[in-house]
Amino acid sequence: MMENALKLLKTYFGYQSFKEGQEQIIENILAGRDTLGIMPTGGGKSLCYQIPALIFEGTTLVISPLISLMKDQIDTLLNLGVAASFINSSLTPRQVQERIAQAGEGRFKLLYIAPERLESENFRGLLQSLSINLIAIDEAHCVSQWGHDFRPSYRHIGQFIQEIPERPVITAFTATATEEVKEDIIKLLGLKNEKVFVTGFDRDNLSFEVRKGENKRDFLLDYLQENREESGIIYVATRKEADNLFHFLEKKGFQVGKYHAGMKDRERAAAQDTFLFDEVRVMIATNAFGMGIDKSNVRFVIHYNMPKNMESYYQEAGRAGRDGAPGECILLFCPQDIIIQKFLIEETIYATARKTNEYQKLQFMADYCHTDRCLRKYILEYFGERVSYENCDHCGNCTQETEIVDITIEAQKIFSCMRRMKERFGLKMVASVLKGSKIVKIKKFGFDRLSTYGLMAEKTEKEILDLLNLLVAEGYIHLTEGQYPVAKLCPEAAPVLRGEQQVFRKTPVRQEKDISAAH
Ligand code: ADP
Repeated sequence: MMENALKLLKTYFGYQSFKEGQEQIIENILAGRDTLGIMPTGGGKSLCYQIPALIFEGTTLVISPLISLMKDQIDTLLNLGVAASFINSSLTPRQVQERIAQAGEGRFKLLYIAPERLESENFRGLLQSLSINLIAIDEAHCVSQWGHDFRPSYRHIGQFIQEIPERPVITAFTATATEEVKEDIIKLLGLKNEKVFVTGFDRDNLSFEVRKGENKRDFLLDYLQENREESGIIYVATRKEADNLFHFLEKKGFQVGKYHAGMKDRERAAAQDTFLFDEVRVMIATNAFGMGIDKSNVRFVIHYNMPKNMESYYQEAGRAGRDGAPGECILLFCPQDIIIQKFLIEETIYATARKTNEYQKLQFMADYCHTDRCLRKYILEYFGERVSYENCDHCGNCTQETEIVDITIEAQKIFSCMRRMKERFGLKMVASVLKGSKIVKIKKFGFDRLSTYGLMAEKTEKEILDLLNLLVAEGYIHLTEGQYPVAKLCPEAAPVLRGEQQVFRKTPVRQEKDISAAH
């Protein structure tokens, strides 16, 4: 069967080989098993159901929310000689009936429908007359309230599938990989004995780097100066920040554009065009910028502020290097960014469970900024891909010259201080106690009488906080969700406290040198 699939790939679609993951997904579908494919945009999911559609008898029903893309897809298929059609709100009731009748005669290998159609019992009944052997559900995360674009009409898909007398094979696709969304898709669409494939998230032409403790504006000035000829995007957290940075860079003589939701439609469209046509090379933007932007020669994406979660980060950073040539993704981190994001979560009207979920995702994002391990591996594992290497050798953490430092003693001091404080305070308070700070709050709780008070007085409070954050990222300390997270010890901390296990950190050699030069 797979030989047949490869033949179709070549003859119909004109490609010589499968993209990563396509083969396994197609094989699973052809074996008659339900499938959930988690692939990033551009990963090549369409072929994963189009090829089985050509192999299976009967019609494949494709449920897709993007009406504008539907027509393009069908035109492409028709050009390739594949019989396909669509039903959506652009058709009259009469046309709908005609298409269904044609489909009933087996005229189409693929029939695309918009999910809203399934809200009509009448329409669902009409579909029952077709011989449907495969259903492909695009943008499957729309079924989940945890996803970023929940669509109530998706809730009808599960019911529709149940109503079909002879159950077809079901395959769903999404680019969102969080656990809750995945579970919702499986449950609400009614997948059975499904196999989940997470694939294609790696973008090996992109390099990743997190920079901490930089003067962000100085960094930008240097970077833009060095990369004057290149096109890039600078993402900021708020509109105000976009305005401020725009004026700052313009004053410094850089030709920059800006884009945020506070601008008029006309202004935004104009800004977008100047960027797309390379009249302006650098765009300063909030997350409002980028949807549907497919500019191939973006060479860098700098995050001036940390975004709210890894999904947003990877999507925005992924706008670099679409042409396959190298792209740099740099995140300028400072702790204030976390406070901004918490504030933005608090401002939402989400219910408590949703907020907790957002805080958890924010913590993964913060951990990305604090980890000293391979950033690429961190990203891919976050999205659920299995990674066999420890170092990709081309992210900031892998390429930076580092030395391994034993921080077991520091970790022990921190853990025992937290224990003595009964694990009821946030990181900042723990750092203040270890520093031996004289703030009122410490006196009030009597922490100045703890044996761990001032135990790390030789370090700055920021250094202690960096250590604490690293121990969070490494899974020794857990932060409760919420605006004021409390630091708790994880079971992993116990063997360290007992002296049975060591803790190491990678320290950049560059920084060490800087410090010794300053002395
Ligand atoms: P998605 O729907 O996952 O965003 P598409 O299915 O539109 O992605 O595919 C993205 C691009 O990759 C398309 O231009 C498609 O023609 C191309 N593509 C898909 N499969 C292959 C393949 N096996 N070899 C080369 N190009 C492919």
